Amino acid sequence: MGDLYALDFDGVLCDSCGESSLSAVKAAKVRWPGLFDGVDSATEDWIVDQMHIVRPIVETGYENVLLVRLLLEMRMSSIRKSSVAEGLTIDGILESWSKIKPVIMEEWGENRETLVDLFGKVRDEWMDKDLGTWIAANRFYPGVPDALQLASSSIFIVTTKQSRFADALLQKLAGVTIPHEKIYGLGTGPKVEVLKQLQKRPEHQGLKLHFVEDRLATLKNVIKEPELDGWNLYLGDWGYNTKKEREEAASISRIEILQLSDFTKKLK
Ligand SMILES: [Mg+2]
Repeated sequence: MGDLYALDFDGVLCDSCGESSLSAVKAAKVRWPGLFDGVDSATEDWIVDQMHIVRPIVETGYENVLLVRLLLEMRMSSIRKSSVAEGLTIDGILESWSKIKPVIMEEWGENRETLVDLFGKVRDEWMDKDLGTWIAANRFYPGVPDALQLASSSIFIVTTKQSRFADALLQKLAGVTIPHEKIYGLGTGPKVEVLKQLQKRPEHQGLKLHFVEDRLATLKNVIKEPELDGWNLYLGDWGYNTKKEREEAASISRIEILQLSDFTKKLK
């Protein structure tokens, strides 16, 4: 018998918030030319700082682009186009993002696919032009590269990031090669479906199943699926979640709250 670990990428293995925030500012400038005219560097720095605070609500990368514009609209009434920005606070975003998101998408006339493509393209261009600074804007959490390298368990990565970015970071920043077929990235379906696929494979029968994630909503989706009752679920407390979410997770018996040092030990 052995263990199978399905691991989220951003917020579990890698802290990519610096990179995703900077990429989102770049993408916002491409998508809405002129929006940043007259925006000084202090305001831009403020936006990037706030992006770290609101990071727990981001499920998929393109949402960062929306958040950049929303933060700018909150700060500068002159460019305000959405009905929600006035009087909105950072806490308000954390509380109500799922309600705010469809409203601003509608009011700005945006669609998901266009923003997903754009966000990917901006990252590709940054990587092509200057791989060094792109990689340097990311960091693996302490002990994670070693743990991945030495892991005796079967490791799968289940992420909403595009696989090629996860792959580049694993190889170039962590020095770890994870076979392509073990990285389930954006476009491979919801995480609950990936977990179902993994547990069905004949070669995984008899393995103890573990899923490590930093987003509470994702773990709650797993709990809703009776078929996935066999998975041990962990919320990584070092990732992108809020104190309120960790408190909620502590009250859910299916979920174990994990610290980084225990996580890296578990993999080895
Ligand atoms: Mg995550």
